[in-house]
Formats: sequence, C-alpha cells, structure tokens
Amino acid sequence: MHIEKIKTYMFHYIRDSKNNELSYLNSFNSEKFFSFVDKNKNNILSQKCIKNLLSSGDEINTKRKILLTFDDGLKDHFNEAYRILKSFNLSGIFFINTKNIIFGEMDTVHKMHFLYGKIGWKKLVEIIIGECRNKKIKIEDYYDEEIAAQSYPLDDREVAVIKYAINYKLQAKIRDELVNSIFYDYRGDFEEKDFYLSKNDINEMSSNGMIFGFHGHEHIPFSSLNKYQLHQSLLNQKIFFEDMDIKNYGVLSFPYGDISSYNHNNINVLTKFGLNLAFIADQHNVNNHSLKILKRIDCAAI
Ligand SMILES: [Zn+2]
Repeated sequence: MHIEKIKTYMFHYIRDSKNNELSYLNSFNSEKFFSFVDKNKNNILSQKCIKNLLSSGDEINTKRKILLTFDDGLKDHFNEAYRILKSFNLSGIFFINTKNIIFGEMDTVHKMHFLYGKIGWKKLVEIIIGECRNKKIKIEDYYDEEIAAQSYPLDDREVAVIKYAINYKLQAKIRDELVNSIFYDYRGDFEEKDFYLSKNDINEMSSNGMIFGFHGHEHIPFSSLNKYQLHQSLLNQKIFFEDMDIKNYGVLSFPYGDISSYNHNNINVLTKFGLNLAFIADQHNVNNHSLKILKRIDCAAI
C-alpha cells in the first residue's frame, strides 16, 4: 500500500472523563480512546508495521491503514495511551521534547494549552493584551496578519495574530515571562508535577513496543532556529536516545506543525542529520520538499 494512504491521527492529552479538575485541558477522553482502539484494532499499525513504514520507501507492506501518533511526551501517554495500546498488542509513535523530559518543568506551550482550555481564547486574548500593556511589551509590533491567517486558518483574526506573535515572533524570554505571569494568576490548584513522561516511563514503553521520535529538544518552531541551533536541538535528542538505549528511527514531528513552523533551511539540516520522515500537524500542502513529509488529522475529528 502507498504510504499516503495511511491515515495518521495526532493526539495530545488523553484523560479520564472522571478526572474533572483536568477536563478543561482540551483532552481526548480515555474511554473514547479505548473504544476507538478496540473498534479499529485490526486496522491500527502494530510495532512491526510501523517499523516497516519507517524503514521502507513509499510502498509499505501492510493492509493496516491507521497510524497513531502522540506529541509532547505527556504523562497521559504512559497512563492511558500506552496502557491501552499494549493491551491490544498495538503501537504508536511518541514524539518527545527531551528538555521537558529531563527537567520536568512545564513548558510555555503547555501553559498556553492550560490557559486557553480553562478560560477560552477570546478572554485569553484580552488578558494577554492587558498583561503586555502592564509589562510595556508592544505586542502589536509582532503582529503579522497575513502569515497569522495562513498559519491558523480556523481562528478569528484577533486570536490568530496573538497566537502567531506568541508562538513565532516574541523573543523566548519575553514570551516565557508573559505566559508565566498569566499562568500563575489562573493556575488555581493545578499540579505541574508529573506533567511529562519520566525516563522510566520511556524505558518501559520502549521495551513494550512503543516507538519514539524527535519533536525538538525544546518545544519551539524549527523555523525560528538557525542551522546551528537546529543541529544542536537534534543532537540533544539523539544523545538522549543513545543514553537511554532507545532505538532512533529518524522520525520527527515538527513542533507546532503548521505551515509556518518549518522552512527549506530546516529541511536541509534534517536530511543531513539522517531524519527521513516528518509529520506536520494539519493538512497543508507539503510538496516540493526533499524530505518525506506526512499530514495528520487531529484526534478531535474522531
Ligand atoms: Zn507539540
């Protein structure tokens, strides 16, 4: 079967619906995940099929058509996804940010997930604009309406420009401080502890047929890194896999994964680094790249 016929789903949070305090994180329900896997157990790629996909060319030797992928190295992937996949003897690809695994501190991108999950984008945009005024950050200097609309076609204009400014334009230090101060105002009794997979989780998952891939050492768009920085980020990941004795399949998912999140210069570094397959987070056009790039469907569409 041709590789383009594989339907790849992308998951982030997978949580128990009874766990109400966390339900505001835009999560996929774990009971629903179980029934999805159960219903499609003969169609979801096993470890053997995924290895086949990662080592062969465009034609792959399987009738199975559904590939499951999990981004950001979240603890949920051990607690829910892995537990369920293992019980069906199935597998998935888990894309991790090694810095978050090593240090365990909650990343700005996940603080943003928490905030818009809890208070909604509309209110969050107002809060961000207010906080920028307090901190004397001229956020409007970082607006780029055209690219923002391309990157976030499903969002309102106000939301898209703020998202783009935060994810792509603001300097990391300013962005982290801005999001941090809003997060600590709204976090309530939310526990940051055990937000990510531990090294032990990764070891156990890997020993039981789960596959790990690159998602950047830090969760920042590759397009905002120069060649040296991207090389360094990938090298950190490679060393992490080597130290942990985790097989490196040369597969990655672009952090953020929208059309603005990577560029031609990045692709050159990736191919030189031995990466041979990359996933995006949506359905934008990926022709004209020397690297094999596959589209994904967000699990919200299930
Ligand atoms: Zn991600």
